[in-house]
Amino acid sequence: MTGKFAMRLEFLGPPGAGKGTQAKALEEKFGAAQISTGDILRTNVAAGTPLGLKAKSYMDAGGLVPDDVIIGMMETELAGRNSFILDGFPRTVAQAEALDALLAKLGLPLDAVVLFDAERQALISRLTGRWTNPRTGRTYHAEYDPPRVAGIDDEDGGPLVQRKDDSLEVVLERLDTYDEKTAPLVEYYANSGLLVRVDALAAIEEVTAEILAAVEARSKAVRP
Ligand code: ADP
Ligand code: AMP
Repeated sequence: MTGKFAMRLEFLGPPGAGKGTQAKALEEKFGAAQISTGDILRTNVAAGTPLGLKAKSYMDAGGLVPDDVIIGMMETELAGRNSFILDGFPRTVAQAEALDALLAKLGLPLDAVVLFDAERQALISRLTGRWTNPRTGRTYHAEYDPPRVAGIDDEDGGPLVQRKDDSLEVVLERLDTYDEKTAPLVEYYANSGLLVRVDALAAIEEVTAEILAAVEARSKAVRP
């Protein structure tokens, strides 16, 4: 199953669970592009677009950008796509309902919703030790997944940064926001038959293998 047919995945899980890391690792295997709402928003904030101006204060505070802003943005993002890995969207029940309606209209059902299981303490140390390439969104970790040269991206040789919202204070807000607004999506998808749970505390390569195995098993069930 290497890009032979369209693959549409949603990655669900708390900040720091490894969604972006895995989306980047799996992009090539599935021939499916990562769509990270966080990356899109940060690009808009950096460029000072109207969307970025609307989003910035919510992001800085560790809250969620309003649903209507995100849903409008994703309608544009998903138009004309066939294969994708959704990373960081949907994050509320209203967003999930809008996504269902949009994908039904486009005739593009999801293949799986991958739930990244992780506990709070691990998420805190992952986020506070994270280094990000602001040009590509690729992340590293000072201890768990360091770049070859500290502060420099292995791929493009440019500088890595620590996101402002990866400070301990904002991280704690973001984890609370997840518990309150996003965790209810587990229940939302519980009866859909789409939910696949992976142990996000395992090593990076093990999580990749777990996702591949689970998605492959599901796609065989759906398309024997
Ligand atoms: P998310 O996209 O879910 O917010 P990231 O993929 O950016 O999370 O990962 C958060 C941090 O944890 C990064 O610094 C990344 O290098 C590190 N990380 C990701 N997956 C693992 C893992 N399985 N084990 C240890 N560290 C990881
Ligand atoms: P992330 O890169 O996924 O950690 O997202 C960074 C920040 O962008 C979040 O803390 C939110 O403020 C905002 N954000 C990203 N995706 C969404 C979304 N689907 N809905 C609302 N806000 C979002």
